[in-house]
Parts: sequence; C-alpha cells; structure tokens
Amino acid sequence: MSTARVLAAKRRNSAGKHSSIWSLWSDHRGILGMHAAQHWIYALVPYSYTFSFLTLPEIVQFLACSTHTMATTNGMADAEDTRAVFFFDIDNCLYTKAYKIHEHMSVLIDNYFQSHLSMSREDATMLHQRYYKDYGLAIEGLVRHHRVDPLEYNAKVDDALPLDDIIKPDDKLRRLLEDIDRQRIKPWLFTNAYINHARKVVKLLGVEDLFEGITFCDYGAEKLLCKPDPAMFDKAMREAGVVDPTSCYYVDDSALNCVGGKKYGLKTVHLVEEGSSSPPEPACDHQIKHLEELRALFPEVFRTGS
Ligand SMILES: [Mg+2]
Repeated sequence: MSTARVLAAKRRNSAGKHSSIWSLWSDHRGILGMHAAQHWIYALVPYSYTFSFLTLPEIVQFLACSTHTMATTNGMADAEDTRAVFFFDIDNCLYTKAYKIHEHMSVLIDNYFQSHLSMSREDATMLHQRYYKDYGLAIEGLVRHHRVDPLEYNAKVDDALPLDDIIKPDDKLRRLLEDIDRQRIKPWLFTNAYINHARKVVKLLGVEDLFEGITFCDYGAEKLLCKPDPAMFDKAMREAGVVDPTSCYYVDDSALNCVGGKKYGLKTVHLVEEGSSSPPEPACDHQIKHLEELRALFPEVFRTGS
C-alpha cells in the first residue's frame, strides 16, 4: 500500500482528529496507532482502509499475525518471495452464475441510471449495456460522461445487493483453494468490484482466509482503473509483488478481461459455465466450465496427492 493511500484513508476516517492520532507502528501490514487524547488504539489495514478499535489480545495478534492472511499482505512486495501468483476474479467466477447476482445488480444499476440521469427504463438499460460493453464496468461510463460519484453509486448498487440471502459457503471451492501449493503459488483476488463487495462475497463463500491479497477497482480514486486496462494488470502485479506475467495464472469469466489477460502475458483461463455461451473466438488459450478443471490444466499449481 502506498503512503498516499494510507494518508487518504486517515484523512477520510479521522474526521478532523488527525493531529491527535499517533502512529505507533507502520509497515506493509498496516498501521497501528493511538489517539492521544482519548487513549484508544486503532489499526488501519490496507485490505479494508478502515479503522478498527482493538482489544489488547487483538493488538498482539495484529503485530504477530502471519503473512499468509489476506488482510495483512495486500500491497506487499516481498523481495524474497519468488512464488508465482494465481489471480482469481470474484464475481461469477468464484460463485456460480445461477446465483443471478449479475441480474440483481443490473436491476439496481438500471434504477440508478433512471433516477440519476432522469431517463426512461429503456434508455437506462441501453446506456448501462453500452457502458458495460465499452468499459467493462457501468460505473466507468457514469464517471467519464456524467460525473457520478462512484462511492455513492457503490452504496446504491453493490452494497445494496442482498448477498447474505444468496451466497452460501462453498466447501468444494474451499478444498480447491486449500489444495493450492502455497510453497509455490500465491492465490490473489483480482476484481473490478469495490473492496466492500469483494470482501463480503469471499467471506460469504467461506474462503476469505485462503487468499493472500486483493487488487480491486478503487472507487475512491481520482481516475477509475479496472480490467482489462493493462494499467490495472500492472497494479495487480505490483500489489501481488510479482514481476514476470508469464509465470502467473489468471482465471476470469469475462471474455473481455481474458483477452486483456492473455495480451498481458498471463496464463489466462476463461471460465464459461455450463449453459453459458462461449465467445465466437476463444478469448484466450484455455477455456473451462468449472474451476475444478484447473487441477488437470495446471497440476503444478496444486499439492501432489491433493
Ligand atoms: Mg467476473
């Protein structure tokens, strides 16, 4: 995590009390600090960009925590860590399309277009689809052409999804991720969603502890950066602490993103679920129907005997 990001998060969260907050500890895992006047201790971790108030055991855990948890390693580039990275997209990739979350989201996005751009349902749907096709994200078009505040959009769309009612823990996915050979491979989340949504999804799936970090679309940034922009791939590589794309793996359900991943040099896999239509031209070298197929496709990624 860059210093600028830390300071921005501090400014946003400390609401004018910035001058009385002291930082006691700061490294790749985050910041541990205290409030001078009120004697409370806080942690700011790069994964959530939020403050937490800690009990003593939690402070001890924060300082001692392993580098093998997502919350503590995002943005870390450990020079001694030469492992390859496996980038996993989240939405419609870690969970099935049968959850119809994309459809739920489409309704909320159309509502947002209608209410904020004062357009008919039909026009809202058309514009939403156009932006999705052109930019890979509806919000990108809204920001570029309508100066919409992405964080407000996020609150009305992504954060408004009834995910708790839809997403259930996935034991099979958990076993697949557990079988990844962590001596050689670093599993990393790579999403165009904002952090709140991403974090909630992996938590509900019961796999949030199996990734070592996340690269997400930062709706709070001045310029939105998302897949398949090569700069977003640069960001993911940088945050995951890896240099050579040809040593890394990437799976995504979006053909557009897979084309970008292949062009970038990653060993890219397009997930096209049973019942979904394949693109007329393969998006990349590998196409699978289920994440389980990764075991046969890349046996070197998994522990032997798993
Ligand atoms: Mg996806």
